[in-house]
Amino acid sequence: RDEWEDEYSILQAQEDFCQYSPRKVAVIGAGAAGLVASRELRREGHEVVIFERSDRVGGTWVYDPNVDSDPLGLDTSRTIIHSSLYDSLRVNLPREVMGFRDYPFMAQVKDGRDPRRFPHHTEVLHYLEDFANHFELVELIRFEAEVIYVGLLDEELNNGWVVKSMKKGEVGNSSVARDVFDAVVVCTGHLTHPNIAEIPGIDAWPGKQLHCHNYRVPEPFSGQVVLIIGNSYSAEDISKEISTVAKEVHVASKSTTERFGYDNIWFHSMVKHAHEDGTVVFSDGSLVPVDVIVHCTGYKYYFPFLEINNTVTVDDNRVGPLYKHIFPPMLAPRLSFIGIPFVALAFLIYELGSKWVAGVLSGRLSLPSEGQMMKDVGSFYLELEAAAVPKHYTHRLAQKQFDHSDWLAAEIGCQPLEDWRKQMLKEHAKNYSARRETYRDEWDDEYLILQAQEDFCQYLP
Ligand code: FAD
Repeated sequence: RDEWEDEYSILQAQEDFCQYSPRKVAVIGAGAAGLVASRELRREGHEVVIFERSDRVGGTWVYDPNVDSDPLGLDTSRTIIHSSLYDSLRVNLPREVMGFRDYPFMAQVKDGRDPRRFPHHTEVLHYLEDFANHFELVELIRFEAEVIYVGLLDEELNNGWVVKSMKKGEVGNSSVARDVFDAVVVCTGHLTHPNIAEIPGIDAWPGKQLHCHNYRVPEPFSGQVVLIIGNSYSAEDISKEISTVAKEVHVASKSTTERFGYDNIWFHSMVKHAHEDGTVVFSDGSLVPVDVIVHCTGYKYYFPFLEINNTVTVDDNRVGPLYKHIFPPMLAPRLSFIGIPFVALAFLIYELGSKWVAGVLSGRLSLPSEGQMMKDVGSFYLELEAAAVPKHYTHRLAQKQFDHSDWLAAEIGCQPLEDWRKQMLKEHAKNYSARRETYRDEWDDEYLILQAQEDFCQYLP
């Protein structure tokens, strides 16, 4: 009973047991992704610490009237404002499909709330705050703690992470906290660091430029000739809003099929050149004198705190290699990313992904081998290439989002997306095309709203 020779098997057993024990997990970010990740991790029994560099939850949905100190976001030492919201923004998805699955984004008719189906952005912040309070997540958060370093405790063993965080307003090493975790979930968002259009001749062009990350209100554009580059939802909202005060608005985009009827908005092909006399020339040869250029040209993934020897890189906005947009095979499951996909039902995809991460970390669910995951990522890249999908669209789910969410649901053993949700998204796309001016206030899918409400009843307290 007191002597034996099989120490090696004790070690193996302990390693095995580890798989099933709760982990100490760092979640970076308290936006929608970080909140739902923390909820799922804790539900699975893990011990969670959330690092959030601002002083409140909500991430993107915390509107800030201030803007970055460099309006184009080129200066790496600029003061960075996290949120890219403009003051007037209303959501661009019906609230029934936007919320988390078992904590629906229900309309609330009470003071300070916006019960509309496509509410103002403040309503999303209220919803996320309610979510954080309801699931008692706030107590897990270290506010005003910016993560500045995440690295392996021991590179050989891959047995844990060192996370260093800095308290806001303090400088020097004394303000840096060092903690050790079994796993890290990165939930830092991807709509903060501007990607701008490259325009030949722009250095000599005398006008002003900004990225839409730094657009808040239309007033500064009063009487100006404004060029908007891009054709995203933001480009559309912003060009319409600016047209109410500007002299002229010109929209340059790859897709010239999208049109909306305003008598001072003109559509153009892509910008070819900017000149020192203030004109901008388009690829069809037409030209206009322009005062301000607003780049609505997307954002860059950026993880300055990750010190992981290039095992995950960002190449032309592809974060990789990532198995199913979540796990880097070499570091899985101890490192994961929630919040990478775009053009998707973000909250829901984050929720499913978080359940997967939580289950894998506890050992209840298992991942394929590193080699198999790498192979899967390789085949995915080949598929994208064969379909001529540009690299920077690697994480753009769009049409593929139902396959992705149903795959995740099967992996974690829950129901695939409800039919009403899929249909509602399709109806919304049709309505958006048919009613570009009024899609947030008029629709024909009342029957789907009823189905959604019936479904939500099961989650009401
Ligand atoms: P974020 O909300 O960006 O949260 C990331 C958090 O991480 C932030 O709180 C940040 O402070 C923190 N953080 C970052 N770095 C660090 C660090 N180093 N240390 C500590 N903390 C850190 N989605 C919809 O579903 N419907 C819409 O209508 C919609 N409209 C949108 C309109 C605009 C203009 C924008 C910009 C986005 C919109 N989105 C919309 C997408 C929205 O971004 C996602 O829905 C979602 O809120 C993103 O959540 P996230 O948690 O991934 O990132």
